[in-house]
Amino acid sequence: MITIETASTAAYVVAGLLFILALAGLSRHETARTGNTFGMIGMAIALVATIALAFDHGLGSGAFALLVAAMVVGALVGLQRARTVEMTGMPELIALLHSFVGLAAVLVGWNGYLHVEAHPLHPAAILLRRTDMLGIHSAEVFIGVFIGAVTFTGSIVAFLKLSARISSAPLVLPGKNYLNLGALAAFVVLTVWFVISPALWLLIAVTILALLLGWHLVASIGGGDMPVVVSMLNSYSGWAAAASGFLLDNDLLIVTGALVGASGAYLSYIMCKAMNRSFISVIAGGFGIEAPSGEEADHGEHREIGAEEAAEVLAGASSVVITPGYGMAVAQAQYPVAELTAQLRSRGVEVRFGIHPVAGRLPGHMNVLLAEAKVPYDIVLELDEINDDLAETDVVLVIGANDTVNPAAAEDPGSPIAGMPVLRVWEAGEVIVFKRSMATGYAGVQNPLFFRDNSRMLFGDAKERVEDILRHLP
Ligand code: NDP
Repeated sequence: MITIETASTAAYVVAGLLFILALAGLSRHETARTGNTFGMIGMAIALVATIALAFDHGLGSGAFALLVAAMVVGALVGLQRARTVEMTGMPELIALLHSFVGLAAVLVGWNGYLHVEAHPLHPAAILLRRTDMLGIHSAEVFIGVFIGAVTFTGSIVAFLKLSARISSAPLVLPGKNYLNLGALAAFVVLTVWFVISPALWLLIAVTILALLLGWHLVASIGGGDMPVVVSMLNSYSGWAAAASGFLLDNDLLIVTGALVGASGAYLSYIMCKAMNRSFISVIAGGFGIEAPSGEEADHGEHREIGAEEAAEVLAGASSVVITPGYGMAVAQAQYPVAELTAQLRSRGVEVRFGIHPVAGRLPGHMNVLLAEAKVPYDIVLELDEINDDLAETDVVLVIGANDTVNPAAAEDPGSPIAGMPVLRVWEAGEVIVFKRSMATGYAGVQNPLFFRDNSRMLFGDAKERVEDILRHLP
């Protein structure tokens, strides 16, 4: 006979498969939309099955009303935020959402403790004792609270850094690596203690410890490494959800959490490789990364160029490479940039784009903007595909990019972004840099490119300046 229990298990399997298809779809532009649809259907099935299961387990009408009210409020807030968020605000929104997953895991853990360990006569506690599973339950509570609390404060700091509410410079406390290692060691000792004798003060201690550790781990990471932090917190939020799944005995939550955890970890690994960073050192809160010397070198004078002259330079070029960055997203300059590309191509100029893997504020940011403005895919190249051609390029237009074209990464071993692969735009014949001022980029590092002999600055909003060039094209 089909019971609610078996029907919901079947629904969970279907939802789990849909989540796997969603991840597969999201890994390519062309299939991303379908991937999203799979994810939404999977989530709808999971919600209905979970509510049905809760009814089967005796959910009262009062609790049901609360559940519906919470879902409606959550859905309305979520819809409103998703509709209004700017592309440039995506990473901070994602960081904030990760913090909710972390907080939920902490609450689920505490709830587990209050129902079982703190309440020895509760039927669940009696059953767990009888089946010798109480120790496992206590470990699940403790580990779930720990991962959840690290994710919670880590994500809050990431949100504050990404939204520029706090400085993106790394916090360097004396002996920071020992602080992190000490916190991990204390966690292991407290876990064993809690499993042997589950006391309230131990749970309070681990919650505080993990909240501080999460804060410290992300605060210690500098601006240039933030892309990895976002994907790393994504991974942590997955593990936090999986830990809650064990505690709630919910297989789908375990599967989904593991999917998010593993895919986030893999994305962090890819980003670390792209940025030539050690994966371990970033997840360990900047382990082994020393504070920059802070000495400001004298780079000399920069030179400027006007839109009219820039238009002449472009009209006379036979090859142009455009390297966009965060500023193009802020200015929403992708549409005039696409128009400029079309105009130059129609005059026989070879125009290509060089995309750095961490340009902008989220993976794939530039690709999405250029696709939105209908720039053909085949002229949009990755860093590795374009870098060797830059020396033979007549003109490079750096549109709102800064850290991703900074020669210091390749030439100054003391720079905070040393070792990060960058677009070697300075090797081109001429470089025109579009930005509003001489301000630094996200990593807070001055860019010697702006002072090179073959570089000229075109100051102002990138969109307005590209439109000026379009008007002046001979
Ligand atoms: P940067 O953040 O280094 O620099 C962007 C530049 O754009 C600034 O120097 C700014 O200069 C300029 N700018 C801002 N607004 C405008 C405007 N309206 N018109 C013209 N210029 C403008 O950009 P990059 O893309 O080169 O580098 C990305 C950085 O972000 C890297 O450090 C990366 O690590 C980090 N990051 C990336 C994430 C990702 O996943 N891609 C996530 C989190 C961080 P000015 O103010 O003078 O105009």
